[in-house]
Amino acid sequence: MKTVKRSQMLGKQQDLKSFETRLFERLRALKQQNRTPETQEDVDGVEIALKRLGWGNYKFCMKCWGEIEDVRLEEDPTRMTCGGCASKGPQGREPGG
Ligand SMILES: [Zn+2]
Repeated sequence: MKTVKRSQMLGKQQDLKSFETRLFERLRALKQQNRTPETQEDVDGVEIALKRLGWGNYKFCMKCWGEIEDVRLEEDPTRMTCGGCASKGPQGREPGG
């Protein structure tokens, strides 16, 4: 039955929805701050993450196409690589790393 599939889909969507909400909140907070190169960079990161959500590849690593660990996205919803790629990436610009 189609309805079963649909509710499974909604479960997944719900999952992404919480990240989307956080991203929007972050974007709004950033736009209230004074514009500096750092905040601009953050705004860019959030906007890219929101685009990736729209494209449906939000949870996939940009480098290896593996799935990005939920923990990493919980920590920073703008992350675009999985833990493995982030630790060996040449331009691993990880906050707090
Ligand atoms: Zn990866």
